[in-house]
Amino acid sequence: MQYYSTNHQAPMADLRKAVVKGLAEDRGLYMPEEIYRLPEEFFQDLPQMDFKSIAYNVASNFFGEDIDLDGLQDLVYDTLQFDCPVVKVKENIYALELFHGPTLAFKDVGARFMARLLQYFIKYSPSPIEQLATRKDTTDNNGQCSIANGQSKLVNVLVATSGDTGSAVANGFLGVDGIHVYVLYPKGKVSPIQECQFTTLGKNITAIEVDGVFDDCQRLVKSAFMDEELNKHMMLTSANSINVARFLPQAFYYFNAYARIKELSNREIGKSSDVVVCVPSGNFGNICAALFGHSMGLPVKRFIAANNANDVFYKYLQTGKYEPKPSKQTLANAMDVGDPSNYARIINLYSNNDSLSPEETHRRITSLISGATYTDEQIMETMRECYQSTGYILDPHGACGYRALVEQLQPGEVGIFCETAHPAKFKEKVDSILGIDVEIPARLRAFMEGEKQSVAMPNDFEAFKSYLLNR
Ligand SMILES: *Cc1c(COP(=O)(O)O)cnc(C)c1O
Repeated sequence: MQYYSTNHQAPMADLRKAVVKGLAEDRGLYMPEEIYRLPEEFFQDLPQMDFKSIAYNVASNFFGEDIDLDGLQDLVYDTLQFDCPVVKVKENIYALELFHGPTLAFKDVGARFMARLLQYFIKYSPSPIEQLATRKDTTDNNGQCSIANGQSKLVNVLVATSGDTGSAVANGFLGVDGIHVYVLYPKGKVSPIQECQFTTLGKNITAIEVDGVFDDCQRLVKSAFMDEELNKHMMLTSANSINVARFLPQAFYYFNAYARIKELSNREIGKSSDVVVCVPSGNFGNICAALFGHSMGLPVKRFIAANNANDVFYKYLQTGKYEPKPSKQTLANAMDVGDPSNYARIINLYSNNDSLSPEETHRRITSLISGATYTDEQIMETMRECYQSTGYILDPHGACGYRALVEQLQPGEVGIFCETAHPAKFKEKVDSILGIDVEIPARLRAFMEGEKQSVAMPNDFEAFKSYLLNR
């Protein structure tokens, strides 16, 4: 499969290049040239299949031309070491719980898949990855991958985080041979629960505590990608959420959710019910994967993109105009995005690669997707209402999804919303809003008991560069 850039000014890339580079040369997002429909038999068998086999079928439809199928199966099975169950919250409304992974948020699936795919390309590629730097020192055994001539090659992933991305990426790549991850985070600006999820891991993960704010971390990372000397010395890549290997695997759990709903349809739900999927959205990667699933034939009737007060996409749906804004800080902070990257992919998908007019594209999008936007006040009110009437504990992100279904579901429809994070990840907020003491799952507790290891770094590119060069 070849991938083109949404900006149309970069050469086509194969999967390996799209994954290793992340972003195209023209700063556009990679899109697959074709999205194949899955065969009819697959949908007939779906309710009887388990999550892993469903995911493998979806993955081979996408990546099967570029990876040998045995390798792909190992990769998918190894990614999905946890379930994404569908849980009834109330009549006709179900939560797709995406928080059962190592860092208790849905980004685990994409990060784990991307780490393993990158490793696959390092290990099994017949030819070396372009520009792959050779490291002189071999003192760091963690994450090294030896090649025949005795030299070692290592891909270095740099990621700046304000909290959640760092933990998903660090844990997704933990222990993966041939890759070393540097997580840059702002000193004192990350909650203790978030910090322990990437500073206690050791192995091939190095946490770098920058004396600055998140934007400074991002600047250091961006400068590193542009620095010629560094790039000659070492292979650098990003694990940004716009990477095709991070966003596409999120389609797996929508097929699985549909299967589980169909399984229930004999008992609990009207057999002919139409399925509506509602995704709490920030950068729109997760819903974009659901929409790719729809293009592969997933029989979902319509989608809802639920936003917090950052309502740029909501406004686009209402008016046809897309006007990015600076992000606003909200209770559902992983969705505080004022210019969602994957907007470009969604437009590209429904304009048939820019061949339809903006009006026609908008018409197609609004016939399939509706929006919602909620203030912090409404998020808190929803969390309380849901807890009091059903006993289900929503996190602030999931609350947007739940409320949009409550408000928009029509007769004859059954709704699934993504519960994108475990409420314990936002324990202080959830406890004070609901007046309860949310239980911390054992795997989160384990991080909190680990020893913090991090490298102190001034907010200065030369210092960061010299640190990388001398490792
Ligand atoms: C990242 C994230 C989101 C938003 O997902 P996008 O793919 O960026 O739209 C929602 N909820 C949680 C908990 C997240 O971590």
